[in-house]
Amino acid sequence: MDMENSPNKHGPCLDKNCGHCCDPIRVDMRNRGELPKDKNGKDIFVERNEILAPETHIETMRLKTFDCINFDTVTKKCLDHESRPDLCRNASCVSDPKGNIDEQHKKTVEEKFIKIYRQ
Ligand code: SF4
Ligand code: SF4
Repeated sequence: MDMENSPNKHGPCLDKNCGHCCDPIRVDMRNRGELPKDKNGKDIFVERNEILAPETHIETMRLKTFDCINFDTVTKKCLDHESRPDLCRNASCVSDPKGNIDEQHKKTVEEKFIKIYRQ
């Protein structure tokens, strides 16, 4: 799963104490949307010097990666969960809410990526 605009999704993040999508944040390079800022206009996402390609879409997908200033690396929780950006609210490892949540979550967290460094 990567961050994308898919309204009304719900991730089992709190139930599973999972911060997989926040560490790092992976954003499809085809996504031209604005990245979130805090109330002072400061970037919440800090870009890493790398690009990832999912092994399952090695030819077609490139993901920029970011660290989030609101991610607690010890507890794996969002420090601003109530006010997290829409980009985060709309991201989920569960595409079929009636399907097996554990299996969908497992598939996401076990997804493998090839790291491509920038020149
Ligand atoms: S993999 Fe699922 S449970 Fe984990 S952070 Fe992403 S949406 Fe939340
Ligand atoms: S704002 Fe919260 S939910 Fe969004 S990427 Fe940062 S830590 Fe994760």
